[in-house]
Amino acid sequence: MAAASTANVDSRNTCKACALGMGGQKGGRTNELGQFPQICRKSIQANGSDLQAPIPAEVLEQPLAELRRLSGLELEHLGRLNTVLYKSAAASGYRPIPWDEALALMASRFKATAPDRTFFYTSGRSSNEAGFVLQLLARLYGTNNVNNCSYYCHQATSVGLQATVGTGTATVDLEQLTKSDCIFVVGANPASNHPRFVTLLKDCRDRGGQVIVINPAKEPGLVNFSKGVGASEYVQPKIGSDQWLFKGIAKAVVDGSATDRAFIADHTEGFGAFLADLENLDWPDIVVHTGLTEGQVRSLAAVYQKAEHVVFAWGMGITHHLHGAANVEAIANLAMLRGMVGKPAAGLLPLRGHSNIQGMGTIGVKPALANEVLSHLEKAYKVQLPQAKGLDTLACLNAAADGRMDVALMLGGNLFAATPNSAWAQEVLDRIGFKVFLTTTLNLGHVVGMEHSEALILPVCARDEEQQGTTQESMFNFIRLSDGGPVRLDNVRSEVEILCGLGEALLPHSPVSFGLFRDHRRIRQAIAAAFPSLGALEDIDETKREFTVAGRLLTRPQFATPSGKAVFVVRQAPSSPATAEHPFVLASVRSEGQFNSIIYDEADKFRKTETRWCVMMNRQDIEALGLAPGGLVDVASPVGRMEGLTTHEYDVPRGNALAYYPEANVLIGTAHDSRSMTPAFKSTAVSIRPSQRRPIPAAVPPP
Ligand code: SF4
Repeated sequence: MAAASTANVDSRNTCKACALGMGGQKGGRTNELGQFPQICRKSIQANGSDLQAPIPAEVLEQPLAELRRLSGLELEHLGRLNTVLYKSAAASGYRPIPWDEALALMASRFKATAPDRTFFYTSGRSSNEAGFVLQLLARLYGTNNVNNCSYYCHQATSVGLQATVGTGTATVDLEQLTKSDCIFVVGANPASNHPRFVTLLKDCRDRGGQVIVINPAKEPGLVNFSKGVGASEYVQPKIGSDQWLFKGIAKAVVDGSATDRAFIADHTEGFGAFLADLENLDWPDIVVHTGLTEGQVRSLAAVYQKAEHVVFAWGMGITHHLHGAANVEAIANLAMLRGMVGKPAAGLLPLRGHSNIQGMGTIGVKPALANEVLSHLEKAYKVQLPQAKGLDTLACLNAAADGRMDVALMLGGNLFAATPNSAWAQEVLDRIGFKVFLTTTLNLGHVVGMEHSEALILPVCARDEEQQGTTQESMFNFIRLSDGGPVRLDNVRSEVEILCGLGEALLPHSPVSFGLFRDHRRIRQAIAAAFPSLGALEDIDETKREFTVAGRLLTRPQFATPSGKAVFVVRQAPSSPATAEHPFVLASVRSEGQFNSIIYDEADKFRKTETRWCVMMNRQDIEALGLAPGGLVDVASPVGRMEGLTTHEYDVPRGNALAYYPEANVLIGTAHDSRSMTPAFKSTAVSIRPSQRRPIPAAVPPP
């Protein structure tokens, strides 16, 4: 399998895993600078999954109750889905049905439903072409309830960056990153989630640069990148204290007279209020909230103010909080303070998750289109599209909880596993009367939340099995062209083909010809016409030229804000969510053996955990419970419990704990950042007590 999957990643297709970006026309194992070889285990695992044999029919026809006994890992390893499956509301399980019957049923359910009682959701696995057709189809049908999984991860980034520098994505590309002399890595564990990014960190250290890691957990893959080279500074603030820390660094930079006064005067606004906020900030408060000493914070400031080209990279340790957007603004403020945005080799770099999640937002898989895009589509197709903003992901599930959502289409992903508060997620997903899933493999989202509702599962081809080219966008705003390749299974279809079929059946008189969109080239032409920044898609089939989305990179201090200036934003830094009843703050984390909600391995080779049913804690906290590492605990939050978790000694601040996502979603409520609606997956107050129970490696919360 390993040899075959390694050969497979050499094809001219975008890597199927993370958004760092490998492959495309430069060939697999090649990055955006043409550097070769670039490969990681995540990529091989994703390819290996697609090379699996089809799941036998008798497995698929088991009662749902049996399938629900399987863990996410076991479901992933059942094999590829090569069968169209249907479950009626009353049935206890799925049964195979023909494609024609499935497509007719899907169209009839949408036809019979008011558009505002439906929603369309995508993961970042799908192509720009499928995403564009999906969002246009939804809007022509009559709803803006169109969203993607980034509403659960990096929407806080989009909101925070828009408020400060007027963009929602990275301001630097890979080439600029390789010229920086200091990289901050904040609230991210790229060793597990973006493995080749660690090579870039090592390269920075090798050329004499500094790498500052800010992470409550001491992650071995960041302590040591490779060959004894690791982070130059590694600080572990308490979970959720980022704004205190960034304000502290800013205060020290101001004290050291190391601000870029010319940049601030010429290219920013709001600095007066920002400065006043820093002046009112007391060091003892920074120390109490972060758990760091004043000396540690000043030391980071000293490194920062010596560097000339600084890139700030961050992950969901920043966004998964009640104040995620404000956390991102705090990073942007710090960058502006020294003019580290709007010049070459410096800037802001959100570490995006799935390989095309950024592309999904770019081509309109979101609840509101930009005015110019909306008006272009209306003029081009002589249609009126819905104007009111649609619902994002969490809002769609809240609507389902209220009985206001009847039909949903999921293009990839695992909405159940991705949603906080698993018990609630299971219940509200089951309230959606009809769900249709387009997928390559089975996951928990296909078997949980299905007990009383009707569902269709449609097997689709993988990216490298597409019969026509598709495109994807990396976290550096780079658009790649994937060639596709031979189909490995005999009963899978292209996502575009399925969506076009739905469009024709649902909207037979539409001025948009979904039949013509079966030709991917025509979709790319439509995208190029609607989105000027993607104009180069128009002839990419001839030129094969991959490109950076126009207008995204900020190498000059010109910001797409109303004033054209970057904006310092002042927010009140938050307090810890811990309470007397729930005195620990728990963050959910991904392991080395998983990618997003997909579990490939039970063990985490970096953290040396053997089971995912564990909680990672400071040794002193374990001992304070009267236990030794390995002892069992029950963890409870206001919304749920996990019983019999194995304690694993880990270097985190006292009072903080980590548990694996998605299992820990049992504990995490639906509280979210009010500005971005990003749930607070990484700041849940919990109690942790010794357990009398045996470990319960359950995929869903025990009843
Ligand atoms: S780092 Fe990301 S893009 Fe690169 S090979 Fe690994 S999974 Fe693929």
